[in-house]
Amino acid sequence: MNWKLAARAAKMNPSVLREILKVTERPGIISLAGGLPSPKTFPIQAFADACAEVLHNDGQAALQYAASEGYAPLRQAVADMLPWNVDPAQVLITTGSQQGLDLVAKVLIDPGSKVLVETPTYLGALQAFGPMEPNPVSVASDDEGVIVEDLVAKAKDGRFIYLLPNFQNPTGRTMTEARRAAVSVAAAAAGLPIVEDNPYGELWFDEAPPLPLTARNPEGCIYLGSFSKVLAPGLRLGFLVAPKAIFPKLLQAKQAVDLHTPIFTQRMVSAVMKDNFLERHVPTIRALYKRQRDAMMAALTREMAGLDVKFNAPKGGMFLWARLPEGIDTVALLPKAVERNVAFVPGAPFYADQGDPRTLRLSFVTASVEEIDTAISALALTLREELAL
Ligand code: PMP
Repeated sequence: MNWKLAARAAKMNPSVLREILKVTERPGIISLAGGLPSPKTFPIQAFADACAEVLHNDGQAALQYAASEGYAPLRQAVADMLPWNVDPAQVLITTGSQQGLDLVAKVLIDPGSKVLVETPTYLGALQAFGPMEPNPVSVASDDEGVIVEDLVAKAKDGRFIYLLPNFQNPTGRTMTEARRAAVSVAAAAAGLPIVEDNPYGELWFDEAPPLPLTARNPEGCIYLGSFSKVLAPGLRLGFLVAPKAIFPKLLQAKQAVDLHTPIFTQRMVSAVMKDNFLERHVPTIRALYKRQRDAMMAALTREMAGLDVKFNAPKGGMFLWARLPEGIDTVALLPKAVERNVAFVPGAPFYADQGDPRTLRLSFVTASVEEIDTAISALALTLREELAL
C-alpha cells in the first residue's frame, strides 16, 4: 500500500529521551531516570471504596457518555482548590495535563508561530507543540526562572510563553516571588499570554510556593493542573483553567480529540476527594519525597566530594538537576553508568536549542533511600573512571 504521510507526521518523532533511556530497561538497574511518582503513595484502598460507591450509586451515569467540559462536581472541586477566584465554568477537565498542552498547541500555534519557552523546559511540551510546527524560542533562565529582560526582548509577536514556576521539570527549580511579579507584569505589558504548567505545585517540602502567575492575571493566562502527582498518574486526569475568551476553542479542540475525559474516572476521583481527602493524603507524599530529596543531596555531597559537580536543592517536586565537570557529556556517560546499574536522564534533550551536555536530571522519588545511596555511589564511581581519577 502506498501510504502518503502528512507533512506534520514528520514532526512526530519518538521522544529522544525514550530512545536514550532504552539502555536503562535492564533488570537490576536502579533508575533515577523516570518521572514516575512513588507507587507507595497511590491510595489504592480509597480508590477501591470510591469505585464500589460510584458503581453502586451512579453506575449507569458513570458508564455513559458525558459532557466534554467535565463532571460538574469535579470542576467545582478544582475551582475550590485553586488559590484565586475561579469560576467552575472556566475549568476544563482534561485527559492528563499532557492533553492540556496538546489542546493549547492546536488552538494557539500556526506553522512558524513564535512560542517562548524556558531554558531548559519540559520535553513533553516541546513534543506536544511540535506537530503544530512552532518556532520555539528559548528565553535565558537562571535559578529563579526566566530572565525578564530576555523575555521582554523576545516577546514581540509571541503566541505565548510556556512557564513552569514550581519545582520545574527538569531542573526542580522554583520561580521566586520577585521573579513571578516581574514576569507577570512584563508579559501583560507585552500582551504576551502565559501558559502556566503546574503539576508539581502541591509537592512542596517546607513551605508552599508563591502564588501562581495565573492568580496575578487570570485573563492573560491558561493554567494547567494534574491529579497525576497528588493521586496517581494512571488515572490520566488533569484540568485547565482558561479565560472566557479562549475557553470555547479549547473545548471544541477537546471534543474532536476524545469527546470527554472518562467519566467513570472523574466520578471516582470526585468521590475519593470528598471530606478533604487530599488535605490528609498530600502531606504524606510531601514527607516521603522530602526524606528522599535529603537522602539524595547527602549522598551527592558525600560521593561527589572533590569533583566539580554542582547540584541544586529543590524545594519540592520530584527532580534534582546536576552539572558535571568540564568535558563530560552525559549522553555518552549514561551507558557507562548503566554498566554499573544506575540510570539518569541526560539534560541536553530538554533544551529547545543548544543543550548543555554536562547536565543531568535525577529523580529522587521512585528509588528507596538505600537504592539512592547505592545509585549515587555507582554514579560517582563511573564519573571518577571517566575523568581517569
Ligand atoms: N507537565 C509537566 C511539567 C510534567 O512533568 C508532566 C508529567 N511528566 C506533565 C505535564 C503531564 O502530566 P499528566 O499528563 O500526567 O498530567
